[in-house]
Amino acid sequence: MQVPFIDLKAQFANLESELMPAIRQVLEQTNFILGKPVEEFEKAFAAYSECDHAIGVASGLDAIKLALRALDIGPGDEVITAANTFIATVLGISAAGAKPVLVDIDEPTYNLDPKLVAAAITPQTKAIMPVHLYGQPADMEPLLELARHHGLAIIEDASQAHGARYQGRRVGSFGAVSAFSLYPGKNLGAYGDGGVITTRNPELAEKIAVMRNYGSKVKYYHLLKGENSRLDTLHAAVCGVKLKHLDEGNAKRRENARLYTEKLSTIPEIRTPFIRPDVEHVFHLYVIRVPDRENLMAYLKDKGVPTIIHYPIPIHLQEAYQDEGWTAGQFPLTEKCADEIVSLPMFPELSPEQIDYVTDCIADYYK
Ligand SMILES: *Cc1c(COP(=O)(O)O)cnc(C)c1O
Repeated sequence: MQVPFIDLKAQFANLESELMPAIRQVLEQTNFILGKPVEEFEKAFAAYSECDHAIGVASGLDAIKLALRALDIGPGDEVITAANTFIATVLGISAAGAKPVLVDIDEPTYNLDPKLVAAAITPQTKAIMPVHLYGQPADMEPLLELARHHGLAIIEDASQAHGARYQGRRVGSFGAVSAFSLYPGKNLGAYGDGGVITTRNPELAEKIAVMRNYGSKVKYYHLLKGENSRLDTLHAAVCGVKLKHLDEGNAKRRENARLYTEKLSTIPEIRTPFIRPDVEHVFHLYVIRVPDRENLMAYLKDKGVPTIIHYPIPIHLQEAYQDEGWTAGQFPLTEKCADEIVSLPMFPELSPEQIDYVTDCIADYYK
């Protein structure tokens, strides 16, 4: 059997009859930039995220950068975030001109540890950026308390967690501003690059909408030095269709995760994902930990099961960030996880038979 890591073709086949008319309409109306589907998607995504406002932008990275810019966070300011994240979180902070301050993770959840965040706050700190990694919300309550106490902004990087809930509330509704990616492989994905920002604050929403469009509200009148970071109408139309199926897709991901965990928890070498009791995890990724990763991955590859490491080199050890002076050993849990994690195939259309095959292969390997 050959199991794909992710199957966007299966998703398209299921949604083709809804997607094609939506795409066709954009082509016929030729409203490629900030057309009506953008506004419609923004409204729908705001409601979905239990927020008042959503603004479509060109990518998840831009969403993070624009969120910071909208809050006037830039040169001289520090933003605290998790050492264990996709590099775009930290690149977004750098792109805004601010200094990323990394903290290590809470081992069972892989999300940033609020106790370490408290210790990292300095007079230059302006914001805390939790990342809801792999689809599991970070522990927001202590972070919100810290932010209130120190007068800091919370900016969520919810790029891997569209639809996830923490204590009953949707991610993206906790931060002053929150950033989502609409990269094709994300739980809600466009057919190209895209991103979306949510906020409850109408002034910030207005400022971001202006900033993403050359700083302009009325054509050729420029209020500020903006950027070109608009969500294309075509992608907004696609995401508008897919948003209607997001809860269903997330429920299937959760069920797939349940099946994986049921089968894998009988194998002593494997540590299956920990789920906080107060969250609804949306399993963007299903990540296990094993002691002898390379051999297992090679064995599974031979059996037609692709696996990926998210992420093999922590940010503080990346060449791009040598100038920060971070050192090996500085974030020990992040480094330990980076050496042991393996992501198994995960997408809504994954079948119980495919999951059985993957878990049988893993069981055979450890026999
Ligand atoms: C995907 C991702 C991003 C960046 O998104 P792009 O749309 O690729 O720019 C940011 N943060 C996290 C945690 C991500 O997974």
